[in-house]
Amino acid sequence: MSRHDHAQSAADPSHTDVVIIGAGFAGVRMLIEMQRRGLSAVALEAGSDLGGTWYWNRYPGARTDSEAWSYAFPFEEIEQEWDWSERYPGQQEVQRYIGFVADRFDVRRSIRFGQRVTSAHYDEAANLWTLTTQDGGRFTCTWFVPALGHLTVPNEPRFPGMDTFTGKTYLTSRWPHEPVTFAGKRVAVIGTGASAIQAIPHIAKEAAQLTVFQRTPNYVMPAQNHPLDASFRRGLKDNAAANWAQARSHIFGFPMSAAGRTYDDVASEEERERIFEEGWQKGGFHFVFETFDDLVLDQRSNDAAAEFIRRKIRQIVQDPATAELLTPRGYPYISKRPPSGTDYYETFNRENVRLIDIRKDPIEAITPSGLRTASRQFEFDAIVFATGFDATTGAYAKIDIRGRDGRRLSDAWSAGPETFLGIGVPGFPNMLMLCGPQSPYINIPVAIESIVDWLGKALTRMKEQGYDRAEATAEATARWTALVSAIFESTLLPAGESANSWYLGANIPGKPRRVLFHFGGAGAYTQAIDEVAARDFEGFEFSRSPALPLTRSPGEALAASHS
Ligand code: NAP
Repeated sequence: MSRHDHAQSAADPSHTDVVIIGAGFAGVRMLIEMQRRGLSAVALEAGSDLGGTWYWNRYPGARTDSEAWSYAFPFEEIEQEWDWSERYPGQQEVQRYIGFVADRFDVRRSIRFGQRVTSAHYDEAANLWTLTTQDGGRFTCTWFVPALGHLTVPNEPRFPGMDTFTGKTYLTSRWPHEPVTFAGKRVAVIGTGASAIQAIPHIAKEAAQLTVFQRTPNYVMPAQNHPLDASFRRGLKDNAAANWAQARSHIFGFPMSAAGRTYDDVASEEERERIFEEGWQKGGFHFVFETFDDLVLDQRSNDAAAEFIRRKIRQIVQDPATAELLTPRGYPYISKRPPSGTDYYETFNRENVRLIDIRKDPIEAITPSGLRTASRQFEFDAIVFATGFDATTGAYAKIDIRGRDGRRLSDAWSAGPETFLGIGVPGFPNMLMLCGPQSPYINIPVAIESIVDWLGKALTRMKEQGYDRAEATAEATARWTALVSAIFESTLLPAGESANSWYLGANIPGKPRRVLFHFGGAGAYTQAIDEVAARDFEGFEFSRSPALPLTRSPGEALAASHS
């Protein structure tokens, strides 16, 4: 038994080897891994149910824009037992799926719901993390795994007069659990990101009048959603393993093949048009990944794609002035996260929908009866804020995280996050982030799988070797941070800053501009972390804390503390 265990084990039932924050895809997957590896773990979840993103984002039209079979856990038994209803499942279906998996592996009992973590402090002498929650809950652990999600903390609008509005206000990422009706109402939607793009067509069908306030137009792909029939679903089950293998090696973690061509491989405009049209018809991310492989690298390729989309907007939207307003210009396609929608552009042909350009005519204030832009007054019964998230680091900033010697994570990251592999931070021993800042920007379940596998191996390795502490080195962290920046700089993505891309924090006023993700692709990231594991976790220092007793061999001591 460790010194800490003497003090805690019987008296404090809230001690586990691992405490995870979050019970979304990542938290649930981590619980399953810990169960398989015989480590005790709990997940602290702020919501009253599991699902993470799929618990909070229940706005009208919320659904995945990754195909169901790629946005999933890679468990053979689940693939065989679960049937998806649509190509892009809706919020409720995804949440049910996560619950199904949690129940199938019996990890729901390890989730503590309604526990919003407010602080996480490391005690070096005891090698112990103590987490406290808003309600005064206290949880201790050796290894602390934040699985906070990238898009968790809302970018809450701060317009003057917010409190004066007498109608209803909604935030897409904090949508009420009770039914919301817009029938007969005059509704405003502020924002035209991926959430708004899904919500707008639904709200437009119900509301008496919908006014959309747009700052930056997006390049919106048609999702081309459809129900899945029995034979397609059979095929998914038969090909589950192959799909997963393909996803792991695809640049973005999708079961797709690279296009196998670049801009220079196609000489004729007609042929290029045909390729883009095929991508458009397939829908969603097929346009990005199956047209030209250099869309994000070669300005000419990107310009061709962007022009194709602009032509589509002009074809679909009947009013030329509205079409022009909806047309993105001045920033490369994909340099801001490209959304997918269903009938998004078509919705602006409805009589009850209008579009207001708030880049030209900014919102000055929310008023008791609506809102005021620089040039006019609008009256509304409801305002929907679809204003996005303080991505990735936002969720860390909400928790008072302190590492060795009481150092605050917010201070360590005051100029932006620096991590090793998106997992470790020097000075924060045993804080092992599951998809933290600088982890890969890919289809998230694929990222989760790689990292959970790595974390599982790392913890088992420590256990076997009699170590109880892992800490990223400053050198490895500096190297990783430089690599992440260099990859980003080698693409067209930096230009997204002018369009407020959240990839580098540009959507949040005052947030330090720092690349928040590794954009090297699923294969490169997995190779990088696998190599680190193969070299005995090089870049992390494993050590024995003073809390481990000296009277036994490290292996015996750790084994005893887990018995
Ligand atoms: P978002 O893409 O960041 O969009 C926020 C929108 O609000 C933007 O149009 C932004 O304008 C506008 N905005 C923000 N602050 C504003 C202000 N003060 N005044 C006026 N307008 C303001 O956020 P999101 O739509 O919630 O999507 C975030 C991410 O979540 C997506 O990129 C995607 O990764 C994910 N998501 C995925 C799905 C899916 O898979 N199906 C669905 C929804 C969301 P600017 O562009 O000018 O900043």
